[in-house]
Amino acid sequence: MMLGGIEAGGTKFVLAVGSAPGAIAARHVIPTRDPEVTLAEAAEWFAAQGTVSALGIGSFGPVELDPSSERWGFITNTPKPGWADCDIAGTLGRALGGVPVGFDTDVNAAALAEHRTAGGGGGSLAYLTIGTGIGGGLVLEGRPVHGIAHPEIGHIYPRRHPQDMEFAGICPHHGDCLEGLASGPAILARWGKSLSELPADHPGHAIIADYLAQACHTIFATVAVEEVVIGGGVANTPGLVERVAERARALDAGYLPGGRRHTVIRPRLGGDSGIVGAMLLAEAAGKA
Ligand code: ZN
Repeated sequence: MMLGGIEAGGTKFVLAVGSAPGAIAARHVIPTRDPEVTLAEAAEWFAAQGTVSALGIGSFGPVELDPSSERWGFITNTPKPGWADCDIAGTLGRALGGVPVGFDTDVNAAALAEHRTAGGGGGSLAYLTIGTGIGGGLVLEGRPVHGIAHPEIGHIYPRRHPQDMEFAGICPHHGDCLEGLASGPAILARWGKSLSELPADHPGHAIIADYLAQACHTIFATVAVEEVVIGGGVANTPGLVERVAERARALDAGYLPGGRRHTVIRPRLGGDSGIVGAMLLAEAAGKA
């Protein structure tokens, strides 16, 4: 049995095959262009690897996850040119000969992979990615959370940092939501550099850590997960995740009942959470 996984991102698709989620035998990265070209190239690569028995896709969104919807497996109203209303799961499943397809958000896939790596079972965690945008996935008591669509944790509104009152934020929908304030492009828009390029004593480090810590506190306070795992390009800034963890503890001030068990950590799987998560979706789809 060979599983296929796709981490479908706005700038690149990571493709992988292997006999199990943790046993990736080959991987390949292709740039994201329009859906026709990108999905055809992905299908071609899988076909060259042999016979895939099930496919898992962790996708950028928004996506349709309601299994009763005719549009299950679609990317829905994304502003990304050409990708709105794209039947990504159906197109790829058919291209690979009608294999079962598991489909979820990229961040839920990453959360599943981190959950499995942490021991699986009934544990709960959140996965946040801080990069071009901010996304968040949740696994509660072992299951990914979809609600009536899927969470969009990147679009909560944090309290403004006192040293950051002037910046309007860059989210086209909300202005100064978390993504509008703390994503990579928001950092660049304010200070002209990435966070890792700013000097160690630049106030940007504390400001961004504060916003991310507020998001962690909100997650701990609303769904009582044990861990918030923070990945994505901005999270590679030296010291940032440690700073977020410390600030989140300070914001809680010893109140939350699970507080002593709350941790904010970097991904156990490094940059592989998304693709391993896609393989887990494939495994589940193959068993369904
Ligand atoms: Zn927003």
